[in-house]
Amino acid sequence: PETVDRIAAGEVVTRPAAVVTELVENSLDAGSESITIAVERGGLDRIRVADDGHGMTEADALLAVERHTTSKIDGIDDVGRVRTLGFRGEALPSIAEAARLDLTTKAVADGARGTRVVVENGEKRSEPAGRDVGTTVEVTDLFARTPARRKSLAGPKTEFSRISALCTRYALLRPDVRFRLSHDDRETFATPGTGDPTDALLGVYDRQVAGASTTVEWSAPDDGSADREVSVSGVVCYPSVTRARPTHVHTAVNSRAVENGDLRQAVVAGYGDLLAGGRYPVAAIDVSVPPERVDANVHPAKERVAFVDGEAVTAAVESAVRDALSGEDL
Ligand code: ADP
Ligand code: MG
Repeated sequence: PETVDRIAAGEVVTRPAAVVTELVENSLDAGSESITIAVERGGLDRIRVADDGHGMTEADALLAVERHTTSKIDGIDDVGRVRTLGFRGEALPSIAEAARLDLTTKAVADGARGTRVVVENGEKRSEPAGRDVGTTVEVTDLFARTPARRKSLAGPKTEFSRISALCTRYALLRPDVRFRLSHDDRETFATPGTGDPTDALLGVYDRQVAGASTTVEWSAPDDGSADREVSVSGVVCYPSVTRARPTHVHTAVNSRAVENGDLRQAVVAGYGDLLAGGRYPVAAIDVSVPPERVDANVHPAKERVAFVDGEAVTAAVESAVRDALSGEDL
């Protein structure tokens, strides 16, 4: 089982940003209103994600760091099958395999006392701990036991830029949640969690970029021309400057941040002529699709998705962006 653990851990935990992704997604899954991400040396030294979500009881916390599906894996030949199943319930154990994990949590039902679980070198221990309702996960010594993996990482600056891009994406896609990101004790950005995408945008970008923006609130018209089951929300900026880079198109499906070239391209298509003269879009777009029409398991780290009918989805995104940008005169 140890070999299998190592391989599975390698699939999910490829670099510091992958750890942050899993922890932030867990915090969002827990219904958090506030998520604070503190990173040291690009995540190579320390990653800490603290939330005010529903937390875990002691029993849940001990279970959370266990590999749920170990019983389904007989040996190395089955690893391919695991990848196709996705890694549900695999993130925390994978992180604990690749690093030192220190988790402190309290559920509402716990009353006054919470729990601290530390996993270090495969050893797990727990003790009572005082804290408010919520969860803090601290990850240190990432890849200390796999020097080859550690060596394959870029420097702190590059690794942090990946983390920053990822947190920016979530902050923009979830304006209802207060996000705070810091690197080496310096605040990178903070969003207010008001629910207004424009507020989130002003939290992460300066006014020059975020100044001229408009919210996207799109559902298909009743004329049968578009897929009624697809809707689009978010925020788009008028491209007033050229200093923003193309990486500032943030996309999500059913509020889960994803990388998808077709979605990105659809956003660009929606901007149309506004991008003349080397201007770049700044946008955060969340597409709602019935869950049965999207497969989020094509990539173990859940970064990519496959649609049952991609064309209906990209057409909706393009229309939504175009409508939003043409709806206001500036
Ligand atoms: P998954 O998210 O796929 O269920 P994880 O390994 O990421 O698997 O987490 C395991 C479990 O631990 C989750 O299902 C959840 O019950 C619990 N958990 C993890 N992080 C948090 C958190 N921040 N707040 C509350 N519960 C959490
Ligand atoms: Mg998870």
